[in-house]
Amino acid sequence: MSSIARRAAAAAATGLTGAVALAVTLTGVPSALGATTGTASLGALRASTEVAVAAHGVNKEGYEGDEAPAGVDVHQEVSTAQLVEAADSVQDPAATGTSGTRTGIGCSGDGTSGNRVQAVYVGVAGQNDRYDAVVGALRAYTAGVDGVYLASAMEHGGRRQIRWVHDSSCQVVVDHVVLNPSDVASFGAERSALVAKGYDRGDRKYLLYTDAAVLCGVANVFTDTSPLQSNANNGGYAQYARVDAPCWAPQDHSVEAHELTHTLGAVLSFAPHATANGHCTDESDVMCYVDGSGVVMTQSCPTTHEKLLDCGGDDYFNTNPAPGSALATNWNAANSSFLFDPPAPTATLSYDGSAAVLAPSVPSGQGWRVDWTAPGCTPATATTTSPGGARLAVSCPSGGTVTATLTQQDGRTAQASTAASASGTPAPASSAAPTPTPGATANPGPSVAPTAPATTPVATLALGLTTVTPKTVAGTRVVLTGTATTGTAPAAGTRVALQRKQGTGWTTLGWARTSAQGTVSLTVAPVATTAYRLAAGTTTSAALTVTVTPKVQVSASGLTVKGAVRPAAKGTRVALVQHGRAVATTRTDAAGRFVLTAPRSGSGYAVTVAAQPIAQLALSAR
Ligand SMILES: [Zn+2]
Repeated sequence: MSSIARRAAAAAATGLTGAVALAVTLTGVPSALGATTGTASLGALRASTEVAVAAHGVNKEGYEGDEAPAGVDVHQEVSTAQLVEAADSVQDPAATGTSGTRTGIGCSGDGTSGNRVQAVYVGVAGQNDRYDAVVGALRAYTAGVDGVYLASAMEHGGRRQIRWVHDSSCQVVVDHVVLNPSDVASFGAERSALVAKGYDRGDRKYLLYTDAAVLCGVANVFTDTSPLQSNANNGGYAQYARVDAPCWAPQDHSVEAHELTHTLGAVLSFAPHATANGHCTDESDVMCYVDGSGVVMTQSCPTTHEKLLDCGGDDYFNTNPAPGSALATNWNAANSSFLFDPPAPTATLSYDGSAAVLAPSVPSGQGWRVDWTAPGCTPATATTTSPGGARLAVSCPSGGTVTATLTQQDGRTAQASTAASASGTPAPASSAAPTPTPGATANPGPSVAPTAPATTPVATLALGLTTVTPKTVAGTRVVLTGTATTGTAPAAGTRVALQRKQGTGWTTLGWARTSAQGTVSLTVAPVATTAYRLAAGTTTSAALTVTVTPKVQVSASGLTVKGAVRPAAKGTRVALVQHGRAVATTRTDAAGRFVLTAPRSGSGYAVTVAAQPIAQLALSAR
C-alpha cells in the first residue's frame, strides 16, 4: 500500500487501491539484560535481537515513518469538524457480516488487568486542545480498528478482538496527555516524554492519537521471531503506535491498524513476503507497500482486502496457519496476548402467554440476528435484527414450539426453544426444547449450549454453505463454513459431502462430519471461479460461488519485468504503465508467461493484466 503505488495507480485510472506506507521505526529494543540500548545498524539487529535500531529515519516523502495515503498531506492540519465527521463513516470491516450490526469494541474482563492496548490522545501545549471535541470520534475509530482484527481472523475461521483498556460500560478509555511541541517533533522525542509521564508499562501497547501534523504513522517492533508467548512483542516491554491527526481514520485503509499490528510483532524477517523494512509485498493487505527501492509488489488478494491483515495468511497473522509453515513455526501476531477470542453467544427463551421472549447474551462488539421458527403457530417464521432483546408474538391454536436461533457477528450461534400453549399459558425460560423423558418434571432451566432438541417433529435436514471470502485469487485458500440443521436444531455428526459444479453436474471433492454445533469448516483453493455446495443423501445446500481472479507473479531485474499468469492462458494482454501511459505491452504465451522491458529507471510503474492492475514497482537500470 505505498503512496507511490497509489499515485501511479490513480494517475493511470486503474482503480488500484493504494497502500498507506508505513515505515517501521525500530527503536529502543530492550536488550536481553533488560536495558534499552542505543542505535545500531539493521544488520546488527538481524544478527542479534538484543540491539536497537532506527531502521527508518526520514522516508522519501521527507518525514519520519510511513508515507501517508494518496491525497493526505501530513503537514496539513485537519479541522475538528472533519475528524468528527470521519467518525460517522469509519469503515469497520467486521460490520459487513451477514448478521446484525456491530457497534463498538469487544470488551474483555475488567478492562484494565493484563495486557491491553491503551488509546491516548496526545495534545500539544500552546495549541487548541481538542480532547473533548474528538474523544467520541476516537472511540469510533477504535471500533474500526477492532473490526480489522475480527474480520481478518474470520478469514481463517478464527476470531480475534483487541484487549483495549476500557471502562465498566465497555467504552474505550482514551487518556489525555499534553506534551510540549518539541516532544512531538519526532517519534523518539514523544516516546521519551511519555515514558517520563509513566507511559512505559510492559503490559501496554500505546495507540497514540497525536494531535500534530508531523508524520503519518510510525511504530516500534522487536525483531524477535520466536513463536513462544515470551516473544518480545508479546508484553514485557511498552510499545508505541503513533498516528498523527491527518492520518486518523482514513476511509480505505486503517493507519492505526497498521501501526498497532507492527507493535504486535509484524512483519518479521521470516515472512515469505517480508520486505527489509518490516512490511510485505503481497497486496492487498494492511501491512504491505513499497517501502524501499527494489521492492516489487504482487496483487495476490483482491483490492477489497486492503482493509484486512495478511493476504494469504502466510506472513504475520493467521488464526489457523498451515502446519509446518513459516507462520506456524515463528511469531504469529494472531497469537498475541493483546488480543482475545470473544465468547460465543447464549440464549434463553420463555413464553409469556402471547409471545416468545428471548434473552440473548451476546458479547460486546458483536452484532447479532435472531431467526425464529414456530411450527404450528402464526407467524411461523420471522427474523429480528434489532439489539436489546427480542420477542416474537405468536398465536398457536393447537400449541407449538417456538425456537430462536441467535447468530452473532462472528458466525457462531445459540439456540433456545419454548413451548407455546394453545391456551396462552406462560412457559418458563428454556434454552432448548423440552426433552421427552417420561415422567420427568419439565424444568429445563437456563442453559447456554446449543442443544439438539429431541422433540423436533419429523424435521428434515437442511444444509447451508457460506464464506467470508466469496472473492479470491487463484490458488488462495478459502474457508467455507457449512451448517446442517434438523428443523431448527443443529444436526451434529452429519456426514456431508463438499461438491463442486462441473458442467451441468456436481462432483464430490471430499467428506466431512459436522461438529456438535452442526457446523463444518472446509478449506478449498480454487484456481477458477467455482460453485460449491454441501450434500447429504438427497439433501443439498444452495450453491455458493467463489469468484476467482487469476494469480499473477511478477519479478523485476534491472529494467526487465517478468511474470506468469495462473491459470495459464495464451494471449492475455499485459502492460507496463507509468503515469497513466502504457510504456510497454505484450501478451502472455501458452504457459501464461510474459516479459516486459521498461524504457528507463523510475518509480510509479504498474503492471496490468487484462487492464487490471496487479503489481506496482520501481525499476532501476544497472
Ligand atoms: Zn509500517
